[in-house]
This record gives sequence, structure tokens and C-alpha cells, in this order.
Amino acid sequence: MLTALVDSTGRAAAAALDESDPLKDRRKEFLLPQGIIYLDGNSLGPLHLSVPARIDAVLREQWGQGLIRSWNSAGWIDLPARVGARIARLCGAAADEVIVADSTSINTFKLLAAAMKLRPARRVILSEENNFPADLYIAQGLCSLTERAELVVARCGTLLDAITEEVAVVMLTQVDFRTGRRHDLKSITERAHEKGALVLWDLAHSVGAFPVALNDVNADFAVGCGYKYLNGGPGAPAFVYVRRDLQAAVQQPLSGWMGHARPFEFLNRYEPAPGMARHLCGTPAILSLSALDAALDAFEGVDMAVVRQKSISLTQTFIRRVEAEAEPLGLTLASPRESEHRGSQVSYRHSSGYAIVQALIADGVIGDFRAPDILRFGFTPLYLSHVEAFAAAERLCEVIRTRRFDRPEFHKRAPVT
Ligand SMILES: *Cc1c(COP(=O)(O)O)cnc(C)c1O
Repeated sequence: MLTALVDSTGRAAAAALDESDPLKDRRKEFLLPQGIIYLDGNSLGPLHLSVPARIDAVLREQWGQGLIRSWNSAGWIDLPARVGARIARLCGAAADEVIVADSTSINTFKLLAAAMKLRPARRVILSEENNFPADLYIAQGLCSLTERAELVVARCGTLLDAITEEVAVVMLTQVDFRTGRRHDLKSITERAHEKGALVLWDLAHSVGAFPVALNDVNADFAVGCGYKYLNGGPGAPAFVYVRRDLQAAVQQPLSGWMGHARPFEFLNRYEPAPGMARHLCGTPAILSLSALDAALDAFEGVDMAVVRQKSISLTQTFIRRVEAEAEPLGLTLASPRESEHRGSQVSYRHSSGYAIVQALIADGVIGDFRAPDILRFGFTPLYLSHVEAFAAAERLCEVIRTRRFDRPEFHKRAPVT
């Protein structure tokens, strides 16, 4: 009875929020399958409707008809910089401070190595134990190449104190991929600079989810992902940011020909291109890059402050509905309760987390699971409604209340969780 009451008033409140939602018309720009509530746009953004037409044109006209001429005539050669400029607006950077290239992992390698070169008297790459492991693996790989570098992983909550004068670069993912806790760009960047260290921000769970102000905080380096909140498609290329005054001094080690000052002079000696172009290595993946470019249409004319407001109200709607449940569910909120400290996701811990997520997916609510016990739900304001956030929370409670997740098929682990 109690649950039913909560549901009807909660649902009405959610519907009222949707009614006054300034972003409500954006949803029809996306292809979203019928009957699915998609809470995994933080892992793989959905298909934006600009993409198929663009890819079709790139395939049939630019590649099919234009052939190799399209490097010039269709502007393929400048595409990494043009798409970078569009992403720059979303991260509070100037158009010439961002370029699209490679993957987040590879870009992390390039910038860590570049940071070590800029601080030759220092050895330490400092990160935090809850950082996305891929970035730690990359740092470990770099350290295995040279005695010069040492990775120090700070315990959670001790990062600021660990920034000493031995630290060359602080490498940190702004939003914790498990809990959604959001680090403060400004205080960490400031502390690093006080100690003479550089900062490399991984913005994989930030850009496209809320406003990021790289220039305002004077950030040195950043990387981020094209296929999460930016909806560029599976394996979309990633981006690199370097603050303008550092650009000329930065030497990245994957000194490929596309980052050469004059690639078509075919000189034997590497000479880095000016600006951000030196962060290119090999030939850009034009099909993927075109998909990312088209998908960025979703952000045209969008104020990221409005996106943030809606993200907060979506996550609050979800959390409140879970908290209104009368029955004990065994769920523990893993994300910060105060919106200020959350990114655009809500995570819970539960000992049967994996099976619960599978049961929810079977029920049309797609979230994901992160070992050992995290149920993760991403909220993407451009295409989600409050009614969906509310309904997803209802189904989560129901799957646990009825123990539908106990079925054996929900316990079989797939390679991707
Ligand atoms: C998704 C993600 C990456 C992924 O990097 P890829 O090279 O694209 O696989 C890196 N860092 C963080 C924090 C991520 O969330």
C-alpha cells in the first residue's frame, strides 16, 4: 500500500519535472529502442540521428567518389582539429587547445610521458587507488620503460597531502567510475601547481555530462573519451587537451608522421607540428571521427549548466524513489548523497549486484555492473526523462523485492559486464 502511494505521487512529480524540462525536445534526435530505459550512456552513448546520414555521405561520396582526393576536398586532414574545437567548448577550453586522436589510453600514455619530460628533476606520477585502472596500467607500462618514472598510488582521501615536490604529474579521473564521486578540478590543480607539479585530468565521465572549466582552473593536460557522453559510437576516437602556453614545449613520444610539422615533405628527421597537431600519431580513423563529429550536433546550442541542472534532478528522482521503498532491499548508496559531489551517475552496492543488473536488463532497464559489487546507472540529460528515472528506480526495487534476480540465467557472467 505504502509503495503504491509513493509511486503515484512520485510519478506525478517526475512527470511535472518533464513538463518544464528545457531539454525535452532533444530526445527525438536519438535513436533509442522502444521499451528500453537506457542508463548506460556513460559507457556507450546511443546513436544520434545525424550519424547515419553523415556516415553514408562519407562512405558513398567522400570515400566512394572522392577517393584519396577527399583528404583535401572533404577536409579529412583537418577533421581531428575541427572536431577537437567542438569538444573544446564542452570542456571550457579554447578551440586550438583540443584535438581528437587515438584512444583515451594512448593519449594518457602520450601526456604522461610528455609531463615527465617537462619535469626532468622529478620521478613521481601520482594517482589514487580508486582511479580508473586503465590509466594506472598505462602509467605502469610507462614506468616499465624507464627508471626515471615511478607510479605512486595514494589511498583514497589522501591525494592532496601526497602532492609533494617529488611529483612530476598528478593523474586523476575527475569522476570515480565506480561511485560517481566527483573530484574538485580547482583545488587539486591549485595544490599541484603550488608544488610545481603538472596535472593530467581524465574527463571520460565528465565531458558532455556537466560543464568542465579547464581554462578557469588553469589545468595543464586532459584526455577524454568520444564514445561515452559524447555519443561518438563504439571505439570512437578520444581527445587531448594541452593548455596553450605549454603546447610548444610538449614533446609526446609517439612521434608519428601525422604529428610532423611537414608530413608531406617526408623528411627523415621528426619535427613536431606547432600547436595540438603534434598529438596526432598515425592516420586518423575518418569513419569514426565523422560519426563523432555528427554526434556532437546533439550539443549544438546546449548550455551545459542546464544539462547539469537536469542531471541533478534526474539522479535525485532516482535516489529518492529507491529511498522511498518500504522493504529493506540490501542496497547501499555508493554515490555521494549530496548532488554537488556526484557526477552524472548513481551507484549502489549489493552482494548480488551482477544478477540484479542482468534481471533489470531483461526487464528493459539497461545499467551496468562494476566488480566487485557496484550497480551503476548513468543519467544522460539530453535524452532521459524524469519519468524514466522514476520507473527505473521502481523496477530496481521490484527486481530485488521479488528476488527475480535469483534465476540462474542472471548469474552467468558475460565477458563484458
Ligand atoms: C572509459 C575510460 C577510459 C577508456 O579508455 P579507452 O582507451 O577508450 O579504452 C579511460 N579512462 C577512463 C576514466 C574511462 O572511464
